[in-house]
Amino acid sequence: MVVKDLVILGAGESGTGAAIFAQQKGWRVFVSDFGSIAPKYKALLDKYSIDWEENTHTIDRILQASTIIKSPGIPEKASVMIEVRKHPIEVISEIEFVFPFLNGKLIAVTGSNGKTTTTLLLDHMLRSVGLNVGLGGNIGQSAALQLAEGAKDVWLYEVSSFQLDDSFKFKPDIAIITNITPDHLDRYHYNFDEYIDSKFRITQSQTADDVFIYCNEDPVLQEQMLLRKSSFLPKTYSFGFAKKGIAWADSTSFFVKIDDNKFDMLIDDLKIKGRHNVYNSMAAAIAGLLMGLTKDQIRESFRTFNAVEHRLEEVLTIRGVLYINDSKATNINSTWYALESMNQPTVLILGGVDKGNDYSILEPLVREKVKSIICLGVDNVKIFEAFSGMCDIVETRTMQDAVQIAYISTNPGDAVLLSPACASFDLFSNFQDRGIQFKDAVQKL
Ligand code: ADP
Repeated sequence: MVVKDLVILGAGESGTGAAIFAQQKGWRVFVSDFGSIAPKYKALLDKYSIDWEENTHTIDRILQASTIIKSPGIPEKASVMIEVRKHPIEVISEIEFVFPFLNGKLIAVTGSNGKTTTTLLLDHMLRSVGLNVGLGGNIGQSAALQLAEGAKDVWLYEVSSFQLDDSFKFKPDIAIITNITPDHLDRYHYNFDEYIDSKFRITQSQTADDVFIYCNEDPVLQEQMLLRKSSFLPKTYSFGFAKKGIAWADSTSFFVKIDDNKFDMLIDDLKIKGRHNVYNSMAAAIAGLLMGLTKDQIRESFRTFNAVEHRLEEVLTIRGVLYINDSKATNINSTWYALESMNQPTVLILGGVDKGNDYSILEPLVREKVKSIICLGVDNVKIFEAFSGMCDIVETRTMQDAVQIAYISTNPGDAVLLSPACASFDLFSNFQDRGIQFKDAVQKL
């Protein structure tokens, strides 16, 4: 066998896993990370005697690769990529590299919002019937490392557009796009069409034997499906509230009908709340039915699936006020759905690093449901411009202050919702840190 050189750019969970897997398959592997590598990954690489470097990229060595696996976090405009692209070196994602080795069915979920929730909902559903699930992609453990442990019944991936950008033969048996709204445009030359194309790469290698599931009430997906109709191969199944696809809803239940098999579920019985979660549940129900699960199995998994941390996570009720952590809402669209799901007067904690937000989209919901806004960010000018006169607005710079002010501005029956519509990097390390600080502050009340 000819030993081939593989370079892995970025030593995170997936990069390190791929390195170990590739080495076991006989590749000569070198791992290069421009930042520092977490100690646990260094220890793993050392354990397998894999060469690595950190805080630098040795370009000459990288250019010797026949294949490069690029971490999804590295943009094309990074100097290492500009250099690599001058040479005929294959550049792929970790999901592409591992794909040919996967056994069992592959379900992959992408979208601008709802990927993690839909993926984890499916994970819960499939595991609850005893299937051995390999959870991978953007979530969980590296698929490559899991492969080394043995066969799986099903692979379930959450995939981002960045992972799809360097994927070509990657072909899920079931692909899901939850929705497409503008996000990450800095990586797509501020061109929304490029971002849309990137999301649709999840279907690029699918054949007529495969399945594509999408939301037929998402205007972008609707338009794309019309445009792509003539050349689209996979069987398509769509969902939405109106009765247009195979899944629809009325005021109390949602339904899925595949051939003669009709599934129904009371919306109130879903453990996760909000209109967006009805969409996510519809997508998961379609995939579950196609995987052969029974209606009772699917219903039971919906009844027992808890909210994912930082996504409309109910923290505590204190003196009749419910505190909700939706720190993962880092764009306007997700905050819109969070507010839409509120049934009580709400104090909204909003703000952070604005990614070009158009706050006017929230205006009707703010007028209807929000009694005050607590800004939690360094620059709050746009929030004042958008909502002055509609409700009280105060500025804070720490989570403790925000929660204290929320506490004194609420009455029994109200809710406090942290749903910032912004990234967190001005005051917090990441959205997890922001959510954890919120929960700590609430617990200390
Ligand atoms: P992702 O993994 O795509 O970032 P998550 O499941 O983590 O998505 O949810 C992120 C946020 O997006 C949640 O806090 C929620 O408010 C919102 N959200 C979840 N599902 C949807 C959906 N189907 N449509 C719109 N917004 C959603």
